[in-house]
Amino acid sequence: VSLAVTGALHMGEPTTLRAADGVITELGPDVEVQPADEVLDGSRLALLPGLVNGHTHAAMTLMRGYGDDLPLRTWLEDRIWPVEAKLTDDDVYWGTRLACVEMIRTGTVRFWDMYWHMPAITRAVHDAGVRAAVAQPLVDFVGDAVELRERAVELLDATDDPLVTPCLGPHAIYTASESLLRWTAELAHERDAPVHIHLSETAQEVADCVAEHGVRPVEYLDRLGLLTPRTVLAHCVWCTDDELALIATRGATIVTNPSSNLKLAVGAVFPYVAARARGVSVGLGTDGAASNNGLDLLQEVKLLALLQKHATGDPAALPAHEAWDVATGRLAGTLGSTGRIAPGQAADFVLVRAEAPELTPGDLVTNLVYAASGSVVDSTVVAGRVLMRGGRVPDESDIRAEALGRARALGTAADATAEKSEALPQVGDHHGRY
Ligand SMILES: [Zn+2]
Repeated sequence: VSLAVTGALHMGEPTTLRAADGVITELGPDVEVQPADEVLDGSRLALLPGLVNGHTHAAMTLMRGYGDDLPLRTWLEDRIWPVEAKLTDDDVYWGTRLACVEMIRTGTVRFWDMYWHMPAITRAVHDAGVRAAVAQPLVDFVGDAVELRERAVELLDATDDPLVTPCLGPHAIYTASESLLRWTAELAHERDAPVHIHLSETAQEVADCVAEHGVRPVEYLDRLGLLTPRTVLAHCVWCTDDELALIATRGATIVTNPSSNLKLAVGAVFPYVAARARGVSVGLGTDGAASNNGLDLLQEVKLLALLQKHATGDPAALPAHEAWDVATGRLAGTLGSTGRIAPGQAADFVLVRAEAPELTPGDLVTNLVYAASGSVVDSTVVAGRVLMRGGRVPDESDIRAEALGRARALGTAADATAEKSEALPQVGDHHGRY
């Protein structure tokens, strides 16, 4: 299977790209289309690497707008957990498909997911054609720890889809016991599996960790063997300089989620400048659609850059081109993308409408970071497959209808407000499920 993208702007020049078997084979102004090639007309479009969403809970699109503007604990206990207790494989499948449509539309080619019903996620990712590293949350403050562990081992072998990477997802240090975290570290080492975990999201988490274990969260993870080059840490808002230095030494990756941190009012800003100064690999994530509420990395990257400038009092902090490198995964190899378009690289890229008003005039990358949203993306290609062409994702309306139907049945859709308020008194029944 081969693809030719003709006449797209690359480094400011009309360029033709050819890809075969998922890999870019040729790139240049004189490259010729071959008879068997599927052709994507790239004229008036700019060719760019796809974006990498380093932390999300894709199926939470089903809970978009359900329980906004509540304190974290109330939001989780009264809204999110009761709904999650009812989710079926099919709910998660369609929620993930909806997330994939949104990500494809806004130029994301790869995402790191953590959510329940992992086989359904894997199926959805496969059907959508994007790349994903997927993990089922590991939590054990109630439930059968043995069964949970057996299941986690099974899930590592659950797919042979080359676009899907099964991971281990200990949810957080306050939801997974020390014994479960140690077990996860051993299994990850044995199987060379990536580990995806929330860390240092709130001051309370840090205080509890110090009280219980005598050390801050990063040192605690390191003591358990969980701080390795395979580890992806979501948030790290409350990390000290010493913790950042330890993360850099161990080669772990931090994924920052500015919208989610702001919306849930975690009370601090991820210390990006300090982290990079110490050599930490950093990626960008949206977190789930219930706490963002969108999956558009072109909105997230602007917030990333602006927030760092604001927090440091330095407009030169995190310049646009560096923010772009964070969003394409170029500063975090573990996330799996090189952020480069060249022969030999995976054929994962986007075409943006170079003549869009918000990209005119000025530098393309600077405009993408500061002026654009995901709506400038015209086409998205993953592993040489065209997932969106001319702003259209096949099956998009069917997927939207299915997901909306699921959300209505779950009582999370906005138009189900009346039923929702009646259903609320019952949510206490589900407390403590996790
Ligand atoms: Zn999260």
